[in-house]
Formats: sequence, structure tokens, C-alpha cells
Amino acid sequence: MSKTWIGEELYRRRAEAAANEFIEKISKILNVKEPPRVRVMLPKQFDEELGFKEPNVPAACYNFIDNTIYIRHPIIVDRKILLHELCHCLQWEEKGLKHLEEAYSQLHLPHCQRTTERECKEFEEMFDGKIKRLWQRIAKKYGVLP
Ligand SMILES: [Zn+2]
Repeated sequence: MSKTWIGEELYRRRAEAAANEFIEKISKILNVKEPPRVRVMLPKQFDEELGFKEPNVPAACYNFIDNTIYIRHPIIVDRKILLHELCHCLQWEEKGLKHLEEAYSQLHLPHCQRTTERECKEFEEMFDGKIKRLWQRIAKKYGVLP
């Protein structure tokens, strides 16, 4: 194992711990029934485990089957991405299969034009200011401030 690998793995674990603490706290504030857990992965593992291929690789995604937010790279963990994916979790909690139908029926549209994505973008903007300090406090505690 190289020094770089150890450094990357330590950072990944710290980023994951920070993201999970943040999601737990925000979920309490927003009354999320079943808060998702967060897994932060290195790009190669993310692409392999989740089956993504260039050029269609997202920075993050929410999987309703295991109620998990997957983040593709430790250094991109940030509050907006986490809020965005938490919104997808809420959409699923609220509408279940209907939400999926809605999402799948719009797959032909550009990402930013899909209703489900627009909702999450609004959600991000609505809460970002309110939770900025919470994220900064947690990210600082785990040493993953950008
Ligand atoms: Zn999205």
C-alpha cells in the first residue's frame, strides 16, 4: 500500500463521516422519516459498483433501493450536493413509484429540465443559506473543508 493510497483512504473516510453526520442532522431538522446513509467512493469504485460509463457519470446519485447517497469523489463532498441528493430521497419518500415514473418519463430531457431535478435545485437554493454554517462546522471538525 502506498502512502498516497493511505492518504486518499483516510480522506475518503473523513469525508464520509462528515457527510453522514451532516445528513443525520439535516434529516432531523427536515423530518426525514428514514435518513439515507452516505457512501463516499473513489471514482473507479463508484463507476464499477454503480455501473456508470463515461460520458454519463454523475458526481453523485441517490439510490432508493438501499436508501443511500453515493458520492463519486471525496473532494467534491459539499453541502449543495448533499442537499440535492437528500431532496431525491424526499421525493421518493413522498411519492414512491409515482416519483420514479415521473423521473423515467423525462429521461429524454436535458438533466436540468427534468421536473424532479428542478425541484432539487430549488430545494438546494432554499436551504443552502440556512445550513451553510452547520456544514462548515462539521466539515471543519473532520478536516474536509474545501
Ligand atoms: Zn438530481
